[in-house]
Amino acid sequence: MQTDDACRIYLALRKIYLKEDTNLCFLEFENPFQILIMTILSAQTTDKNVNSVKNALFSKYPDCKSLASADILEVEEIIKSTGFYHAKAKHIISASQMLSENYGCFVPKTIDELVKLPGVGRKTANIVLNHAYGINEGIAVDTHVKRLSVRLGFTKNNDPDKIETDLKSLFKESVWGEINFLLISHGRLVCKAKNPSCAVCKIKKMCRYYQNESKLKKNNT
Ligand code: SF4
Repeated sequence: MQTDDACRIYLALRKIYLKEDTNLCFLEFENPFQILIMTILSAQTTDKNVNSVKNALFSKYPDCKSLASADILEVEEIIKSTGFYHAKAKHIISASQMLSENYGCFVPKTIDELVKLPGVGRKTANIVLNHAYGINEGIAVDTHVKRLSVRLGFTKNNDPDKIETDLKSLFKESVWGEINFLLISHGRLVCKAKNPSCAVCKIKKMCRYYQNESKLKKNNT
């Protein structure tokens, strides 16, 4: 896809989903430590689920030092509703220990450092950097970003790292965080995994999937 076409889609989505006071983060965090822990917890579950355990978790373990020395069974109990809670409890405690031992409880500001923390991959690192520090080092590719990038024609790849590279080449760095937000928003509301609502989609004329489906229908009539 040409950058001009990608830009037109970006501007159309921006018009639909961005208002002046729109919060670009779906997780209700208050500091870099919280967004890091909440993003680790958000694997394989909804942001709503993660937001619902936030108060219980951070009122008991408000910082990296307290979570680093937490009892794993107690942490598991608090985060149980987010799923995969054995692994997640282990990850957030170990990540807190590593932050405490290696970074003086400061959440690092680079992807290379962040991905060394347990439970943190590129997607999580990108989310943390963007929302905690406003740093656009990459674009977080989750299931919505992946699906929409393929359907809209931003990429022909399936691997999240390759999709991220394709997206980075299409959009200027300053909007990488917005791209993640816009694709997730459209994916949740309109372009769902099963049965995308193409009939009511405001960007259908620019969508490769829609164009291909329309051609197929025409050829079959
Ligand atoms: S036209 Fe359909 S496939 Fe394309 S973005 Fe809209 S809902 Fe998704």
